[in-house]
Amino acid sequence: MRAVVVPAYVAAALAAALYALLSWRRRQVTPLAKSLALITSGAALWSLAQAFAAVASPTVALAATSAMFPGVAMLVAGFHWHVTVFTGYGLERLRRWHALLLIHPVLLTVVVATDPIHHAFFSTVTSHPDGGVTPHFGPLYWLHTAYCYTMIAIGMGRAVAAMRRAVRGHRRVFLIFLIGGLAPAAGNLISILLLTEDRQLDLTPILFLVTASMWWWAERFGTPARRTPVSYKQVIAALSDAVMVLDADGRILDANPAAAELLAALGGPAGSAVGRRWQDVLGPQRALVFSGIDQQTVASADGRIYDVRVVRMSPETGTGAGTVVVVRDVTELERLRAELTDQALRDGLTGVYNRRHLTTVLREQVASGHPLAAVMIDVDHFKAVNDTYGHAVGDEVLIRLAQELAGSVGSAGTVARYGGEEFAVLLPGVDARAAAELADQWRCRCSEVVVGTPLGPLRATFSAGVAELAAGGSAEELLKCADRALYLAKEQGRDRVVTAVPERLPAGLP
Ligand code: GH3
Ligand code: MG
Ligand code: MG
Repeated sequence: MRAVVVPAYVAAALAAALYALLSWRRRQVTPLAKSLALITSGAALWSLAQAFAAVASPTVALAATSAMFPGVAMLVAGFHWHVTVFTGYGLERLRRWHALLLIHPVLLTVVVATDPIHHAFFSTVTSHPDGGVTPHFGPLYWLHTAYCYTMIAIGMGRAVAAMRRAVRGHRRVFLIFLIGGLAPAAGNLISILLLTEDRQLDLTPILFLVTASMWWWAERFGTPARRTPVSYKQVIAALSDAVMVLDADGRILDANPAAAELLAALGGPAGSAVGRRWQDVLGPQRALVFSGIDQQTVASADGRIYDVRVVRMSPETGTGAGTVVVVRDVTELERLRAELTDQALRDGLTGVYNRRHLTTVLREQVASGHPLAAVMIDVDHFKAVNDTYGHAVGDEVLIRLAQELAGSVGSAGTVARYGGEEFAVLLPGVDARAAAELADQWRCRCSEVVVGTPLGPLRATFSAGVAELAAGGSAEELLKCADRALYLAKEQGRDRVVTAVPERLPAGLP
C-alpha cells in the first residue's frame, strides 16, 4: 500500500508546491492568488510530511508528523481567507481582524512542538518496524479538529449563502467552488473516522489538489460573479428610480439614495426616512400617499409628475406582507409625450391642426348637439403666387396666413389646414351670422399680412364659405355646405365671405 501512497504524496507535494508558486506569481492579478498560494503551500507541506511519516525512521517520521500540522493550519487559514474573498461575506471584518487567523497556526505549532512534554496532542505514537509512525490523538488534537471543521463549515455556509444570493448564471460557479471545498473535508472525515488504524492512508492533502484545481477554475474562468459582484443592494442603490421597502404598517424599512432624494424634494426630513411611516415623511405632499393602487401617475404640488408602482411582497415569514414602492419621475417623459401627441395633431408646415384632428373635433362637436359653425377658407390665386414668387414664398404666405388666422380665432375655435391652401375653422356655440362676421374680420386682418419677397412686398387674400350645423345635420353636410359657400365666394370675385343659405345655393351644384 505504501508503495502507492508514498509516491502519491510526493507527487501531490510537488504539484501543490508548483501550484503555490504559480498562484503567488499571480498575486498582483487577482485578490484570490495569495489565499490560493497559502492553501497549496499548506497542502504541499502536509503531503510531504505525510510521505515521510509513512516511511521514515520513527524519529524522522514523528518529526514529519509534527511538521504536518503547520501545513494543516495554513490550509485552514487559507481556506477561510479564500472563501471570504471569493464570496465577499465578512471581507471587511477579515481586513480588520486578519491577524486573528494567525492564532491557530501559532498555537498549533507550539502545542505540537511541546507535545513530548504534555502528550495532550498525540496521546501515543505507534512506530512501525518497517518505518513510519501512526499517532493516536489526545484532547488538543480534537480541539484543533473541531476548530478546523468550524472554520470550514463557516466558509461553506458563506459559499452556500453566496450561491443562493447569486444570479442564476453565477450559481454554477459557486456550486463548483462548494464541491471543491467539500472534497478534502469529506476525505479527511473518512480518514479520521474509518482509517484511524492506518494513518498512511490520509487522502486529505491529495484531495486539496482537487480543491485548488476547482477553485483555480472558479477564479480563472467562472469569476464574473467575483469581478462584478451582483448585489441587489448595489443595483438598487444605482437606480435613478426611487425604491422603498415598506413593512405591513407602511413603515419604511429601506430606501435607496434616489428615494431619499425624492422624499427630501417632496418636503420630507433631511435625515434618514427609514423607520418612519411614509405618509408622515411626505409631509404636506399628500398626493403621493399610497392609495393601494398598483400603478398610478400622480402630480405633486410643484407640478412634477410621478409614476408610482406598488408591488406587494408575499409574507414568507408569516409576519405580514410588506410592499415595495417604486417611484419614477416622469415629468420630462410626460412633457415629451404630450409634445409628440400634439405634433401628431398638427400640420407640419403651418403649425395649425391637421385635417385628421379637425375631423375628430368636428365629430365630437356634432355629436354634442350644440350649435356649431364651420368656415372653409381658400387662398385666392395661390397658384399665381407660386408661379410668380416661387414655392418657398408660397409656403411663407401659407405660414403667415395660418399664424394670423390662428391668432385671430384664438380660443374661440379650432383652426386646421384642410388641404393645400385651404383652411377650415370650427366655431362651437356660434351661428352662421356671427361666424360670418368673425370670418370677415379674419379676412381683413389676413389681407394686411405682408410677406417680403425679392420682387417686393406681397399680400394675399382669401375667400371664405360659412355654414352652420342644421338640426340633425351631419359633419359631412356641414363641411359640404361651407364648401359650396366658398365656391360662391370665389364665383362672386374672391376676397370675400359668403354664408351658405340653402335656398341661395344654385341648383346643379355638387
Ligand atoms: P383660387 O383663387 O381659385 O383658389 O385659385 P388658386 O390658384 O388658389 O387655386 P388652385 O387650387 O388651382 O391652386 C392651389 C395651389 O396651391 C396649387 C398648389 O401648387 C398650391 N399648393 C398646394 N399646397 C401647397 C404648399 O404646401 N405650398 C405651396 N407653396 N403651394 C401649395
Ligand atoms: Mg384651392
Ligand atoms: Mg385657392
